[in-house]
Amino acid sequence: MSGRTQLMWDEAVTGYDFGREHPMDPVRLALTRSLVSALGLDREVDVVAAKAAGESTLRLVHREDYIAAVKAASADPGSADTSYGLGTVDDPAFAGMHEVSALIAGQSVGAAEAVWRGEALHAVNFAGGLHHAMPGGASGFCIYNDASLAIARLLELGAERVAYVDVDVHHGDGVQAAFWEDPRVLTISLHEHPRTLFPQTGWPEETGADGAEGSAVNVALPAGTGDAGWVRAFHAVVPELLAEFRPQVLVTQHGADTHFEDPLAHLAVSLDAQRAVQVACHELAHEHADGRWVALGGGGYAVVEVVPRSWTHLVGIAAGRPVDPVTVIPEGWRQEVYARTRQLGPQRMTDGRWPVEWASWEAGYDPADRLDQAIRSTRRAVFPLRGMLP
Ligand SMILES: [Zn+2]
Repeated sequence: MSGRTQLMWDEAVTGYDFGREHPMDPVRLALTRSLVSALGLDREVDVVAAKAAGESTLRLVHREDYIAAVKAASADPGSADTSYGLGTVDDPAFAGMHEVSALIAGQSVGAAEAVWRGEALHAVNFAGGLHHAMPGGASGFCIYNDASLAIARLLELGAERVAYVDVDVHHGDGVQAAFWEDPRVLTISLHEHPRTLFPQTGWPEETGADGAEGSAVNVALPAGTGDAGWVRAFHAVVPELLAEFRPQVLVTQHGADTHFEDPLAHLAVSLDAQRAVQVACHELAHEHADGRWVALGGGGYAVVEVVPRSWTHLVGIAAGRPVDPVTVIPEGWRQEVYARTRQLGPQRMTDGRWPVEWASWEAGYDPADRLDQAIRSTRRAVFPLRGMLP
């Protein structure tokens, strides 16, 4: 098996553009790609452009009538059918929407194929992670669910156990929905509590359908959770579940919108804690999935300050050349940031919180603490269903 890492990239993914007023500005993808180059990481990976997902692949997850509606809206944005979530404030229709959404999905499917076939040990598609798209509708800035499609393709290729870990600040509802009845897929989502954030799902009690009990795991974090609590929650839930489930492939979603500067949510996580969880995901892939790791992007609306640095760390970790947090960012990249956005880019690859301090679940359990209550709720709801001690 090759130890190489693939970075999935086709410049055309930056055409995933809902317009000037929309928070998901594709400049975040372009700036991430150029920061990867500025730090020399693209020489450490195979940069691969996969083909767009075709109709038969899209149908592994999406309903035929929905795909037809996306195509129609893509050809004539003014006629978008809002009953499919298209042409809405969150998911405005734009010309070429079908093609670019299928291209992003194709990068995640291509990543999954490369890892399954051993052409790469790890593969990263930071343009992906569009986890809210449902089988029959657009939602939350997501048209096609590339994460679900990558997992569905792995199953089609013969995988019997795929684990999906989603650390975006929002619940990974579309992926959970796609595999709600499928015990071959374990979905774990850590997110801000549904009471305070879109999409208002991801309660600990959501654990999977009959026949797949315990295959959906949700950790609903209190608004305001910071580094120590977020990393503690991850380690209190994810490693034990992966050890029990023994996935053949680990698929992770690294939405950067947990960050304290993110304008759309209310967690208080730093770049350094995001990096710590990326490192943990990489180690868990080696420990429990023979290294087979597909890493995706996701949300993230601090498009200059946070997203490019967070996902550049992800690429570095996957490439086996992690970027030292104290690294000074090359001036050329900061000039590009200013030219494109009229904003001043960050100067270092850290928020100054490295190393991240946190306590293990066993150490320092406090029944009065809201974060510990959240973790406890998840463990109580789901661990016994998997034959594990809560
Ligand atoms: Zn998000």
